[in-house]
Amino acid sequence: MNKKYFVFLLALIIALSSGCAHCRKDKAKIFQYSTVNAFYSGVYDGKLACKELKKHGDFGMGTFNGVDGELILLGKVCYQAKADGRIVIAKNNLEIPFATANYFKPSIHAVLEKPLDLKEITEYLDLLLPDKNSIFAIKLEGEFDFVQTRSIEKQKEPYTPFTEVAKNQSVSKFSGIKGTLVGYYFPEYMKELNVAGYHLHFISRDRKHGGHLLDCNILKGSIEMEQVNKIFMELNDTKNLTIK
Ligand SMILES: [Zn+2]
Repeated sequence: MNKKYFVFLLALIIALSSGCAHCRKDKAKIFQYSTVNAFYSGVYDGKLACKELKKHGDFGMGTFNGVDGELILLGKVCYQAKADGRIVIAKNNLEIPFATANYFKPSIHAVLEKPLDLKEITEYLDLLLPDKNSIFAIKLEGEFDFVQTRSIEKQKEPYTPFTEVAKNQSVSKFSGIKGTLVGYYFPEYMKELNVAGYHLHFISRDRKHGGHLLDCNILKGSIEMEQVNKIFMELNDTKNLTIK
């Protein structure tokens, strides 16, 4: 190979690889749209379209305008768990009032070899967390004895606070189902920005059922987690609203 060409090629490879390393590093952050406090206060309409959320990650969760079901972002597909527990693929232009997403690159891995209920799962996750003051993206895949989820029917204006809305949540129960829990752990001191503790959404392996996790019993499965200490937050346009 011509020496000049070789040097050019080497420089190009170094430039490309250092560029990619920078991209990866830059991508290791949580993206959040709006805050949980704004959402709980009744800010149920946002301006973030599904296609925009997908630019911020391949993994995530949230809801849709009017609290029209639960959002699960998995493998670059944005799923909508409707009030009856059915899942549909959300349209790219469907808008979001509150969501969290990231490019999932897990660094913590564990296997669940015996049945655990939700309390035992969270106790096990507690043991795996190296730092309870950090944010973690959590993916738990497995076979479930049962899963109980909730989803909300699309709200009509004037909106009421979420404590009122949640009283009319629709609960779905699934038994003998394989699927994935997608979600995040946020530390207690961040509770006004995002849901503190574990917040998980379920999606079945056939991508037909799911919702916000209320309860479950897992037979066996695997856990993957990623610790993320950077957060990029985009505020919803709420200038005409009073948020407590
Ligand atoms: Zn939820």
